Amino acid sequence: MKTAIITGVTGQDGAYLSKFLLGKNYKVIGLVRSYNDSKYKKLEHLNIKDQINFEKVDLLDIVSIQNVIKKYDPDEIYNLAAQSSVGLSFQQPIGTINFNTMSVLYILEAIKNTDEKIKFYQASSSEMYGKVEELPITEKTPMHPLSPYAISKASAHWITTNYRESYDLFAVNGILFNHESYLRTENFFIKKLIQNAVDIKKGNKETLHLGNLKAKRDFGYSPDYVRAMWLMLQEEEPEDFIICSGKSYSLKEIVKYVFKSLDININKLKIDKELFRPVDIPDIYGDNAKAKEKLGWEYEKDFLEVLDILIEKELKNNIK
Ligand code: NAP
Repeated sequence: MKTAIITGVTGQDGAYLSKFLLGKNYKVIGLVRSYNDSKYKKLEHLNIKDQINFEKVDLLDIVSIQNVIKKYDPDEIYNLAAQSSVGLSFQQPIGTINFNTMSVLYILEAIKNTDEKIKFYQASSSEMYGKVEELPITEKTPMHPLSPYAISKASAHWITTNYRESYDLFAVNGILFNHESYLRTENFFIKKLIQNAVDIKKGNKETLHLGNLKAKRDFGYSPDYVRAMWLMLQEEEPEDFIICSGKSYSLKEIVKYVFKSLDININKLKIDKELFRPVDIPDIYGDNAKAKEKLGWEYEKDFLEVLDILIEKELKNNIK
């Protein structure tokens, strides 16, 4: 039986990755920053909370990370913990850059000090590319981050690359484009849109306030994207991979689709200048050819199909 440590286990991807690895008969160790019961909702929703061993670990404390590695002797570590919101990173630049960067350095240093055979996955992000000259994004596209979040992820990306190149660690960056699910928290656009649209449909809310809808993004489905994380760590050689759908939709097209699906009048939508970011990426989409060819990762879902799944789940459930 293989053992995997997952940081950020209480988040969207942590929950779906745990479910995936348990299905592959892994022992899953979930690192949490506190044992607060309200944090486990996503794992409870997937009915897997009881199958995970939780450990409270401060990811900015190398001794605490080394101790958990020594205790469980993991084969793989998936580092998903991060302040993951671009919007919030403009309000909390110091905290975001400090945690998202330094935690990665501490984990890699802990691996180097304890067991260099551990395979390490770092959650990189398409946000690192920011202001791009050419689309689609490939693994070779130069980075030009446009937010504190993107800067933190670019920094963590290069720390991971540096540990691979300097110390021969099996350390890889999964460069994931936006991916959504019912388990997303409501400070993210798609979840906020669908949750509020369903509330309007049910008569519990009058209007929905959103920011810049001109931006175009390449969106996918989290339960399918976590499989790519695992595939990267099953390779013989450590390499970085872009994981995306390959197509971008404007936020406006997405809002129209959701409102139409739920038969809501578009005048319920209010554009709020206060919600605009200081700077935004106008359009971004990636090329997933390397992941499909080398990893055998399969992904064919159009995002409108994903929206249908999310709307249906939101109408049935209601985690808040
Ligand atoms: P998420 O739902 O926001 O989950 C973030 C996780 O990080 C939570 O478990 C959270 O724990 C933990 N965390 C945050 N700050 C922490 C801290 N200071 N100490 C310890 N743990 C902390 O994010 P996600 O969507 O699952 O994304 C997973 C990873 O992929 C993140 O690194 C994200 O930046 C990256 N990524 C996501 C996307 C996407 O579209 N989803 C795209 C590219 C990259 P609590 O429950 O305690 O808050």
